[in-house]
Amino acid sequence: MIMWLFGETVKIGYNSFMKQSELFTKTLRHLPADEETINAQFLTRAGFVDKLMAGVYSYLPLGLLTLKKIEMIVREEMDAIGGQEILMPILHPAEIWKKTGAWTTVDVLFKIKSRTEKDYALGQSEEEVVTPLVMAYVDTYKDLPKAVYQIGWKFRDELRSKSGLLRGREFYMKDMYSFHVDQPDFDRFYDIVKKAYLKIFERIGLVAKVTEASGGTFSQKISYEFMVLTNAGEDNILYCDVCEFCVNEDIAKRKSGDVCPKCNQGKLSQAKASEVGNVFDLGQKYGKDFDLGFKDGNGKKQYPIMGCYGLGISRLMGVVVEKFHDEKGIIWPKAVTPVDLHLINIAKDRKIADKLYETLQTEGFSVLYDETSVSAGEKFANSDLIGIPTRVLVSDKTLKEDSVEIKARNSDKTQLVKIKELVKNLKQ
Ligand SMILES: [Zn+2]
Repeated sequence: MIMWLFGETVKIGYNSFMKQSELFTKTLRHLPADEETINAQFLTRAGFVDKLMAGVYSYLPLGLLTLKKIEMIVREEMDAIGGQEILMPILHPAEIWKKTGAWTTVDVLFKIKSRTEKDYALGQSEEEVVTPLVMAYVDTYKDLPKAVYQIGWKFRDELRSKSGLLRGREFYMKDMYSFHVDQPDFDRFYDIVKKAYLKIFERIGLVAKVTEASGGTFSQKISYEFMVLTNAGEDNILYCDVCEFCVNEDIAKRKSGDVCPKCNQGKLSQAKASEVGNVFDLGQKYGKDFDLGFKDGNGKKQYPIMGCYGLGISRLMGVVVEKFHDEKGIIWPKAVTPVDLHLINIAKDRKIADKLYETLQTEGFSVLYDETSVSAGEKFANSDLIGIPTRVLVSDKTLKEDSVEIKARNSDKTQLVKIKELVKNLKQ
């Protein structure tokens, strides 16, 4: 949890309060240069992120709140299925990557040289670190299964990185690794993870489809990809309009309009999608590469079946913006909005709004309070751009009726609510 104080009243954290005049960021009127995608344009203009270079962003106060909310949802669901959180190094010696062959076969591996000419890699997936780490504690089949995960920065040496948060050279992700005595136990656990992943996307407000593909970078085993339909996506998928069937178009010998091969009822439609999660069945590759095994029931050495489960947290933030926006700006789903309420004062006297700001804090809401002196029109435009789901407006007109005006970001309807009933109304 991130919590720090500015002055006496501004607190940025999970139950955060911010006065807009005290935020060090500002909304930008102009489109950022070299940003082609909606997510990068809106997130930059609204002051959520700032680009350092292609595919590398700073997360600013509002952006970090959303990133941390997504992270917390992912953490809760990984903990719920027995994942144990750890934090592994990002900087790796080249030797472990050479041992598995990935030093030469993984083209996106970020390689760096020290001043003593030693080679290092920056983590993009961490089987090379986690396999010796976990297997050091596994002696017999009784010590399995195990699942560990981490949430942190990852690196990919991308040639092209022009999709905002959808394709980063540096990105924030969750990677989990599981270790099993045999294939059926991996299959059992994969089903559990699949349900947890679908629950994460549902909590955020996204619908994901699961494609199944053979191959992948590491082995000829099966991999699963979790795809969210969005026009900004880099994958083309075919999905059934009746059942769960979904494939990546590149590998499918099918086309749009074909009858679904799984249910024989639905038709296949083509769509662009963004991969937000993946699962690799790693088989025994890493146990064998490091020659790290366990004793089975007969005392014989066996190698573990391993799984790797990735989920892009910064990418999810970009996908959410691609899915939820209009021409004015972002429309955050409630689960991942930086704060609950956008309180806006345009009344001549700020006293009532100031008091409301304190009351809402006491009542447990997180609030961004626009007490700046810019015009009402500019305040509304900023509010639409930032995209907090609920706007609470205090104006001389509403105060005449002892009321404030409530408006949802995704609706044009406004509602007058008596000030003394505001908290009750918001909690409903
Ligand atoms: Zn079907």
